Amino acid sequence: MTTPLDPRRANDPRDFLDLDALLDEEEVAIQQTVRKFVQQQVLPDVGDWFDRGIFPRELATEMGSLGLLGMHLEGYGCAGTSGTSYGLACLELEAGDSGIRSFVSVQGSLAMFPIRAFGSEEQKEQWLPAMASGEAIGCFGLTEPDSGSDPASMRTVAKRDGTDWVLNGTKMWITNGGIADVAVVWARTDDGVRGFVVPTDTPGFTANTIHQKMSLRASVTSELVLEDVRLPAGAVLPGVEGMRGPLSCLNEARYGILFGAMGAARACYEAALDYATSREQFGRPIGGFQLIQRKLVEMLVSVNRGTLLALHLGRLKDQGRLTPAQVSMGKLDNVRQAMDVAREARNVLGANGVTLEYPVIRHMNNLEAVYTYEGTNEIHTLTLGQAITGIPAFR
Ligand code: FAD
Repeated sequence: MTTPLDPRRANDPRDFLDLDALLDEEEVAIQQTVRKFVQQQVLPDVGDWFDRGIFPRELATEMGSLGLLGMHLEGYGCAGTSGTSYGLACLELEAGDSGIRSFVSVQGSLAMFPIRAFGSEEQKEQWLPAMASGEAIGCFGLTEPDSGSDPASMRTVAKRDGTDWVLNGTKMWITNGGIADVAVVWARTDDGVRGFVVPTDTPGFTANTIHQKMSLRASVTSELVLEDVRLPAGAVLPGVEGMRGPLSCLNEARYGILFGAMGAARACYEAALDYATSREQFGRPIGGFQLIQRKLVEMLVSVNRGTLLALHLGRLKDQGRLTPAQVSMGKLDNVRQAMDVAREARNVLGANGVTLEYPVIRHMNNLEAVYTYEGTNEIHTLTLGQAITGIPAFR
């Protein structure tokens, strides 16, 4: 006969479904390393970075030395971990701040991934080791002022001039733009959309910081202006033509987001749980009121369900079976669940919920941008609608 477990001991509020038991040794090691990094290097200062609207440059090399940049890529100084490990790292980073996870997503999935997957040997050798160490920072220029959800409508052009390429256009909302050493820029050519590896010190290239952002404030977002940017023939990514190039990068980055959003959600849930068990009103902890317990339980269910979904998609990725539509489902649902968790947690914290002394409003504001970038909620809904009906409803 088995002894009944004390329910408070059996049910860890911080890992209720015992999801850590689904991880292998390497995954646990990565999870714990990144969690410690976030606790020591991010959480003490991130409220201040958010307040001042800065991303500290030195974090790049610190994350590089931990092997977090391009971590699931092979060779060229990259750590070559599993996709699940990369996802878990994103989750822990975003438990710190979505801006820090965005830096890692853009560096690894949007800038290093296309160079690794579609670049020439020279491009790989020139950029990947420096980017893996954080010495060089990358950005990804796809969105334009008049071309967001429909990136195929881009106007940026690359024209041949002898063997050179000459690029003209404007890219908008580019993460890391103002601190980047290299930009992967997507442009229209006579042969369709192509990707270009553009050193940001090339004459004609300017990055203007976007100010007064109320979301992802601990992340640099910029406008890129390309005015007669002249590049040698070898600047084009030789391995891909058409929208498959940028879309495959976005699929990689969205995969990190579907894990990351659960990190932000977990941080909000834990902040609300801690607050509810210590804050007293009407002579007792507010966590003793049924209405507050209901909120905490809804958060608990969302965090565990979303993390389980992320882990499942991670396993599919590592088996080479993950489809873009499945990634869309993860991005769609985990980000909206995280937003609901953040909003409820903000409420549980009362007035303290609106200050940067607690992490919740920062996560709540950050998730607004996470909801929009890498495919909005509507675009992922349409992607899933097409996947199950076979009928595209985008236009
Ligand atoms: P729009 O496309 O104009 O959409 C506006 C609204 O209309 C949305 O709700 C959308 O869902 C809806 N909509 C559009 N089409 C349809 C439709 N067919 N049916 C129903 N509804 C529709 N881009 C990059 O290239 N690189 C980056 O590094 C990068 N970083 C970013 C960082 C931040 C902080 C932010 C906010 C954005 C970033 N982006 C980046 C841009 C981001 O990817 C775009 O904002 C996103 O694709 C949406 O485009 P949009 O803002 O132009 O909105």
